[in-house]
Amino acid sequence: ARKFFVGGNFKMNGTKESIKSIVKGLNEAQLDSNVEVVIAPPALYLQLARDELTKAGVEVAAQNVYDKPNGAYTGEISVSQLKDLDVHWTILGHSERRTLLKETDEVVASKTKFAVDGGVSVIWCCGESLEEREAGKTVEVVERQLAAVAAKVSAGDWSKIVIAYEPIWAIGTGKVATVQQAQEVHEAIRKWLRANVGEAVADETRILYGGSVNGKNCKDLAKEKDIDGFLVGGASLKPEFVDIINSNL
Ligand code: 13P
Repeated sequence: ARKFFVGGNFKMNGTKESIKSIVKGLNEAQLDSNVEVVIAPPALYLQLARDELTKAGVEVAAQNVYDKPNGAYTGEISVSQLKDLDVHWTILGHSERRTLLKETDEVVASKTKFAVDGGVSVIWCCGESLEEREAGKTVEVVERQLAAVAAKVSAGDWSKIVIAYEPIWAIGTGKVATVQQAQEVHEAIRKWLRANVGEAVADETRILYGGSVNGKNCKDLAKEKDIDGFLVGGASLKPEFVDIINSNL
């Protein structure tokens, strides 16, 4: 069985005070012990979050990492620096980075390979725009994104990758995908993995849904057979994040 996974992507939000308070909330909360939880504060606050976290089963992730070792890469952070901070996860390929920072499928794939090779697990994001959905291209887009990463990583690397399906039109809009829309794409992703990577990877890889998940809509989504958790933006900054972690209780 795949362990349910809930990620909190803080994006470019927070202060020392607010991040301390979110972590304190998690330390003190009653969390379903069958759930793996990973919070991703801005890079500046990774150390703070790491230092403040005392809760078993909760880990810290970066929101991005570079695909080169340490060196002359102004503004970037390295895999070895994450490990130096005892951070063993990173988000990669978030649609905000793909669109605003112009990260291509290949760049995201290269970063994913570099991270897993360096011992940092990846919450790898994919998803279509509204225009692509309306043109009936959702599965095609997600398969193209998957093919780029599958071309770089080995079958064994997938144990260090969690997939997050995040339709761009659902991110930060309050417009959550319907349970059917999400399940349909998750099933297509698993089918693609089965055909192109292997049985075990298809069966074992967690596929998260992201996009306007909140404390109310999480329960129905969590019941779907191919939805193995969530990647949460806005609501991860609020107390209702605990309700999302506890979706299955
Ligand atoms: P929201 O939950 O704010 O819609 O953001 C989703 C997301 O982009 C998580 O990575």
